[in-house]
Amino acid sequence: MDIIGGGIAGLALAGILDPERFAVTLHEQRPELPGVGTTLAMWAGAQAAIARLGLLDQLRDAGTKLASGALRDPSGQAMLSMEGDALLGIPRPALLKLLDSAVPTTVRRVTGRVERLPRDSWLTVGADGVHSVVRRTHWGSRAVARPTPVLAVRGVIPGNPSPEDVGEYWGRGNLFGLAPAGEGTNWYASFRSGLGPDQVDVPEALDTTRRLFSGHAAAVQHVLAQATAETTLAQRIWIAPPLARYTRRNVVLIGDAAHAMTPNLGRGACESLIDAVTLGSFLNALPLKDALANYNKKRVLPTQQLRLASSAMGRTALARTMQPARDALLRQVGKRIANKAAAVKTVE
Ligand SMILES: Cc1cc2nc3c(=O)[nH]c(=O)nc-3n(C[C@H](O)[C@H](O)[C@H](O)COP(=O)(O)OP(=O)(O)OC[C@H]3O[C@@H](n4cnc5c(N)ncnc54)[C@H](O)[C@@H]3O)c2cc1C
Repeated sequence: MDIIGGGIAGLALAGILDPERFAVTLHEQRPELPGVGTTLAMWAGAQAAIARLGLLDQLRDAGTKLASGALRDPSGQAMLSMEGDALLGIPRPALLKLLDSAVPTTVRRVTGRVERLPRDSWLTVGADGVHSVVRRTHWGSRAVARPTPVLAVRGVIPGNPSPEDVGEYWGRGNLFGLAPAGEGTNWYASFRSGLGPDQVDVPEALDTTRRLFSGHAAAVQHVLAQATAETTLAQRIWIAPPLARYTRRNVVLIGDAAHAMTPNLGRGACESLIDAVTLGSFLNALPLKDALANYNKKRVLPTQQLRLASSAMGRTALARTMQPARDALLRQVGKRIANKAAAVKTVE
């Protein structure tokens, strides 16, 4: 079996496959794991997938509980508050390192970019991200990734944010988020921009971000004053086209190769982990044809729904003309949630 791509999805799949049953080759273009990267939110389903890999304790050790947050207006006032301790944040490099540690030594590792897919493989797995060569080769040139008009700029600065500043600040056509990440603060900003779509000039993106958010709350200004081009990443957001199936004969797509979505729901990496563990478990237990059929049945609908929901959330967060109506609605919902919580407390 050949797994193309040793990112989150590819490493997780290599880690769950039964080494007694499969001869696995993992192809990854990057010569080593990345040393820098920002925080990924891990929802309950992703934590369950990590538990299946036997890595939950390590995830908890390396992660930060994201206990509360709020949707705020640009001044920092909460429009809607959320509490709960189900969410864990983990830096991408730490997650990759963890997943890498679960890959058995029997897996053959090949470093280098795959342009032509192996011809005689028992199963080819496309775990090669949004610009998947596997998708392009087997689903055709109409199934290539699409750029959105949105730029994502993000980074980590030292020092935790104060809890009353944590959350997402939704402005008119832009959003800014900040959350604790270990000893630091993970921040991100999204807005429409003509920069990119391929290589984005980071100092220019950071300058634009500072200018765009110059009227925002003091916490946002503080973060942007500390951010440097060296600790900042900037990229255009690309999404995968809609797909009705993730399998074609003995080829299967997992992770962003199958359903790259906008990051607004924080679910792409989570779903990549769930894909990998679901596919791996079916392959370990069933003949190939049944395993692929079951994987399709289980994963296509929920991930395509999330893909759409994430885009809808992105459009709402980055609304321009609808922004006042949106904020009024959010405040109403926020009040209702607060009243309900107060009523529950009174009854208790
Ligand atoms: C700004 C932003 C914020 C995000 N925040 C979150 C979040 O909070 N929570 C969350 O769950 N998700 C989040 N995501 C989504 C998440 O990053 C992706 O869904 C996830 O990385 C997908 O993992 P993957 O392994 O499928 O693909 P990738 O991470 O893209 O990995 C693909 C791997 O394949 C390799 N590769 C590609 N092509 C080839 C080739 N031809 N030959 C060999 N190797 C190849 C690449 O080098 C890479 O290592 C965010 C995304 C963005 C852009």
